[in-house]
Amino acid sequence: MNSHPLCPACGATNIKKLFYTMQGGFIWTPFLNFMKCRSCGARFQGQTGQLDPQVPKWMRIISVMIIMGFIGLLFGVVATLSSLRARNDHSPVLVPISKVPTPTRRPSPR
Ligand SMILES: [Zn+2]
Repeated sequence: MNSHPLCPACGATNIKKLFYTMQGGFIWTPFLNFMKCRSCGARFQGQTGQLDPQVPKWMRIISVMIIMGFIGLLFGVVATLSSLRARNDHSPVLVPISKVPTPTRRPSPR
């Protein structure tokens, strides 16, 4: 029944839950229950109280893979949309004006 976690470094209850760290990113930081003490600034794991917790390497690899997959998906969607737009584009606005009268200098008969 430890609803208020104590800082394992200084024992303060002035704890905030972290939602982003450089290591854990937005995916693993809330998942791993990382906390930060407002009194002394120590970072620790909320359940075990381990100071300066590290994100496991496989979690970082997974997050990189998720981000890469998302970027790839995004590029795929953009490529599909642009190809569809190029195929269905029959609007006369984008047709280049071909018959522009070019001023030609004719030799005068006089
Ligand atoms: Zn503390």
